[in-house]
Amino acid sequence: MARILITSAIPYINGIKHLGNLVGSQLPADLFARYQRGRGNEVMFLCATDEHGTPAELAAAKAGKPVADYCAEMHEVQADIARRFGLSFDHFGRSSSPQNHALTQHFAGQLAEHGLIREVVEQQMYSRADGRFLPDRYIEGTCPNCGFESARGDQCDNCTKQLDPTDLINPHSTISGSTDLELRETKHLYLRQSAMKDKLEAWIDSKTDWPVLTTSIAKKWLNDGDGLQDRGITRDLDWGIPVKKGAEDWPGMEGKVFYVWFDAPIEYIACAKEWADAKGLDDSAWQRWWRTDKGADDVRYVEFMGKDNVPFHTLGFPATLMGSGEPWKLVDYIKSFNYLNYDGGQFSTSRGRGVFMDQALEILPADYWRWWLLSHAPESSDAEFTWDNFQVSVNKDLADVLGNFVSRITKFCRSKFGEAVPEGGAYGSQEEALLADLTARVRAYEGCMEAMEVRKASQELRAIWVAGNEYLQSAAPWSTFKTDPETAAMQVRLGLNLIRLYAVLSAPFIPFTSARLAEAMGIPDLGWPDDVAAALTALPAGHGFSVPDVLFAKISDEDREDWQSRFAGIRS
Ligand SMILES: [Zn+2]
Repeated sequence: MARILITSAIPYINGIKHLGNLVGSQLPADLFARYQRGRGNEVMFLCATDEHGTPAELAAAKAGKPVADYCAEMHEVQADIARRFGLSFDHFGRSSSPQNHALTQHFAGQLAEHGLIREVVEQQMYSRADGRFLPDRYIEGTCPNCGFESARGDQCDNCTKQLDPTDLINPHSTISGSTDLELRETKHLYLRQSAMKDKLEAWIDSKTDWPVLTTSIAKKWLNDGDGLQDRGITRDLDWGIPVKKGAEDWPGMEGKVFYVWFDAPIEYIACAKEWADAKGLDDSAWQRWWRTDKGADDVRYVEFMGKDNVPFHTLGFPATLMGSGEPWKLVDYIKSFNYLNYDGGQFSTSRGRGVFMDQALEILPADYWRWWLLSHAPESSDAEFTWDNFQVSVNKDLADVLGNFVSRITKFCRSKFGEAVPEGGAYGSQEEALLADLTARVRAYEGCMEAMEVRKASQELRAIWVAGNEYLQSAAPWSTFKTDPETAAMQVRLGLNLIRLYAVLSAPFIPFTSARLAEAMGIPDLGWPDDVAAALTALPAGHGFSVPDVLFAKISDEDREDWQSRFAGIRS
């Protein structure tokens, strides 16, 4: 049995995520986790909310709530939606947890001990009216690059250029609106990534199986311009993890917190400790996933993320882990995704454009979305959600192919043989050909799932459903029954067993439907079909079943048009 550690990039706390966010990390990570569990492997699947930084503070202020309360509430909202989408995290943690506080402070202390932290006195914008420094989004002004008037201190939303607050023209505080600003000296800690460059490059060079998209992004950051830069890991903010050197105070850093980019990936590890603590297990339970001196040397660690997160996961986080001088588990494979666009443009949180996770579940069950999103995952290039495509995909793949197959075979059996698997008859050449075809397809499906080729896996699964439909069409037990009821019984028995096979194979994509099929067919055990022919005799003659309700309702043209206008947002 293999041991597989899976993390999904952690979603930011402020607000509900849209479908593009979902398919860029959490959903394909869930697909992989469910598949690996289905194969009998030991899986630890972790995700969390990313709770620090100025956007959380600003969103809390807008909601009129203390930031800790705001984050606690939003965490519950996100956890609830994740459950309803069937995201099967072993633990959904919080980057603001006491475990992450302690671990982040521990890493900072270790890095300092190894000479990888330097203290830098720099000039930062200070607001006299607010009595505080104004990092990142606490300051806005005109972008020096494009002239956009509401550029933030860390980035211009119009031209996406990364900015420093001192770059802004006509800056003002976003708290009070005050323009009474001045530069003041403040001390910050920098992670000496430049000192780690050779070590990081050698490690990345050793990853010969990584996609070019991933390694080329990392190489660009390592070598472009002046090469890999040292990076600030602290901020003048109240909300965050207090700067400490392990358990000790850090002289001169009182009242400052770690920068969110530093503590967020450490939460992957802290999340495992949260899991162990919640279960009343001791530290060895989580360390066997994360410490190569404590059992993690045989773990395969896979990370899922959008392409914008690749630099932090190939450079910043590994620099933290390697620089600690401790035997932490490093990532073995990074699966990164391009972007999903929405109906001729982009998803937009601020303009309410596109479908958000809570809205999606208001109009259709999770499996409809899971199927479309995974079968159109933005792997090799950006992908686009359109309502036409969604309607076609749901109506054809789910309703016509899978749903129709299940409905026809169960209803026909009930009408002619009753609600139990019929006996009699023997396979002929048609059935043997189907077995050979299905065996080859199941092996191909496994190959795609192991390789995390999400779209190709969905195509193989669909082909497996189609094979059953075509068999049923051609065998036509409703005709056979009139002249040869024994053979018809065999055909129906095989069809019912195909439903069981589909329940097992489809579970990673459409887990709720799979559970309904398993319940209707009366099968608690969904063992993986290592031997397809044997799996198709798992339901013996006499085994009872019930006819499930309609699995997938078709999307009407009227619904499609309603939804299209409802989610169009305010177009710019
Ligand atoms: Zn700009």
